[in-house]
This record gives sequence, structure tokens and C-alpha cells, in this order.
Amino acid sequence: MIYEHHTHHPGPDPVRDPWRDSMRLALQEAALAVSAGDVPVGAVLLGPDREVLATGHNEREATGDPTAHAEVLALRRAAAELGEWRLNGCTLVVTLEPCVMCAGALVQSRVARVVYGADDEKAGAAGSLWDLVRDRRLNHRPEVIRGVLADECARQLTDFFRDL
Ligand SMILES: [Zn+2]
Repeated sequence: MIYEHHTHHPGPDPVRDPWRDSMRLALQEAALAVSAGDVPVGAVLLGPDREVLATGHNEREATGDPTAHAEVLALRRAAAELGEWRLNGCTLVVTLEPCVMCAGALVQSRVARVVYGADDEKAGAAGSLWDLVRDRRLNHRPEVIRGVLADECARQLTDFFRDL
């Protein structure tokens, strides 16, 4: 797998900087995946006022569930918390660019925004290999902000695969 990241901007980045603290939470969540042998991907679902509604980390190995990606788990937990499948105004923050399944789930949930760290050049569906999230044929298209703490997010993944 190839996890691309952006070069650092020299100064403040008004688009990405506001999401750094949430991405640090997602990185901590991702680290919880490793003990079960799962690839460290972590997600945080924020409500309209950026309060944390739910978190999730990859549990595919832990649960033997092919759909147990961090994003899907966070979406399900947030919807259960709200008692509502429409996550209007919410933001999903995730350490790795979502795959096709998760991009589809994000569109279905009506989240306002997807914020991710590292690009996934091999399977990313939010701009790298596909851009499902912003496909103009869909009537709901979340905003996408990529490259938040991209170096840290990419490093967590490359460290995991190097240690295997
Ligand atoms: Zn996924």
C-alpha cells in the first residue's frame, strides 16, 4: 500500500488547522486497533457544534466483520446516539482516506463534511482512485478536507506494516 501525504505548509493553514485536535483524537483511536492485529485506522464523528458524538477504529480482524471499518462503526454509533440515521451538519474525521464502502456510507448518512489525513492511493474513494464522495450524479455531496496531520497519519500506517 502507498500512503501519500502532503508537504508541510510553511505557515498557518486556515483550512486544515481547525481540524488538527480532532485528528489527534482519531490517531489515538486508530492506535486501539493494533492489539487485535487490525490496520490502525481511526475515526471521530463530530456533531454540528464539533462535539464528539462517537469514535471508531478498524475492527475487521477483531470482529471478523468485513464491514467493520472505523468510519462505518463511528457512523453507526453516532446514529444510535442521535436516534436518527441522518447525520446532518456532522463531520467525520478519519486518519486514512475512506474506501468505496465507507465513502458510500458517508454519502448515505448525509454528513456535511469528511476530513481525512493520509491519502490512500491504492483504494481511496474521496479523491485518489475514485471521488465517490463528490460525484456530481449524487444529490448529497459532503465537503472534503484532505491532508490534516497527513504525515502523522501516514507514519502510523507505515510503522504498522513495517512491524509486521
Ligand atoms: Zn472503509
